[in-house]
Amino acid sequence: MSLALSRRIVVLLASFSPIALFFFALPSWAASSLAAWYLSRDGLLQLRTSKNSHLEAFYQPAGDGKGARVWIDFQGELVRPRSLEGSGPVREIRLGKPSPGLTRFVIEFQPYVNLDPEKLKLIGTSSDRWQLKFDNLPKNGFRSIGEGDLTSPPLARLNKQKFNSFSPTPFVVSKLPDVSRGRYLVVIDPGHGGPDPGAVGIGGLRESDIVLEISLQLAELLRAKGVKVRLTRKSEIDLDLPPRVAIANRLRANAFVSIHANASSRNWEDVNGIETFYFSGVKGNQLASKIQEQVLEVSPRSPNRGVRKGRFFVIRRTTMPAVLVETGFVTGRLDAPRLADSKHRRRLAFAIATGILKYLQGSI
Ligand SMILES: [Zn+2]
Repeated sequence: MSLALSRRIVVLLASFSPIALFFFALPSWAASSLAAWYLSRDGLLQLRTSKNSHLEAFYQPAGDGKGARVWIDFQGELVRPRSLEGSGPVREIRLGKPSPGLTRFVIEFQPYVNLDPEKLKLIGTSSDRWQLKFDNLPKNGFRSIGEGDLTSPPLARLNKQKFNSFSPTPFVVSKLPDVSRGRYLVVIDPGHGGPDPGAVGIGGLRESDIVLEISLQLAELLRAKGVKVRLTRKSEIDLDLPPRVAIANRLRANAFVSIHANASSRNWEDVNGIETFYFSGVKGNQLASKIQEQVLEVSPRSPNRGVRKGRFFVIRRTTMPAVLVETGFVTGRLDAPRLADSKHRRRLAFAIATGILKYLQGSI
């Protein structure tokens, strides 16, 4: 399957979903996280996985006499690769292990089936359930097909209340504001890194780890919306401040966003809150305001420390609207446990992406 021809179906990511994806892969002997699947005659694919799995979904258009394909990769290795004959519009369903530690679920459609990739969305409906709707599949000769039990135990234990109370809006890419695709370039700067952990807080919580995870996810979200992204660092490396600025200036980025977490000077646990800095200019202020507003929204009860002018090197020396966002205090009683939680980091990535996209929408 050529990845060049494929494109990603909207990435899922509801509030509860995965996201340590960049940090730990399951060991290669781990069993497949796909537990059950069912494709109904009205075109609804339902999946049950282990909790908080990371899934990636892809689409490849029809070509060379073959029909379109949709495939989903799951963590964990499949025990028994197999293919099942489809019916009606579905030619075949395959379950394979494309590489060690991975399970791939493939639906191959008949060549006459037309899918609209824009409408394909894999959505997390709880911590272990997913669905993907195929609209307008021809029903002729189509029989539902599936394996495993979709409704087995986890459903009973599922605390729906908990999910819904925090986030009524699932964090799906389609909910992010739209901007013209391919038009904007944003540089994301995960603060600190390598031997410089940045702030270290409660339980050894390290700023550099937090901001790297948020930044990597933020980059993915923006890319899914057609924004070009450059990260100043993608791993735990040490990077001085001047090269961070140089990257953004050389690329003439539309915006520069440096991501940090705060520490209070005497590790006071009572100090919590969100603040976003800019150096100068109306646009810098706008970018900071949009981000601040969104980050506050996913950080209930964390105080609003405001949009402020700051003289940090990375925002002072950059030539485009540039901000530095402090996503909470690693030393704070309220903020620290959140920052330690990958679900919250996901929310922060989503919030910052929303802020940036709203800013881009308003900037010509
Ligand atoms: Zn910092």
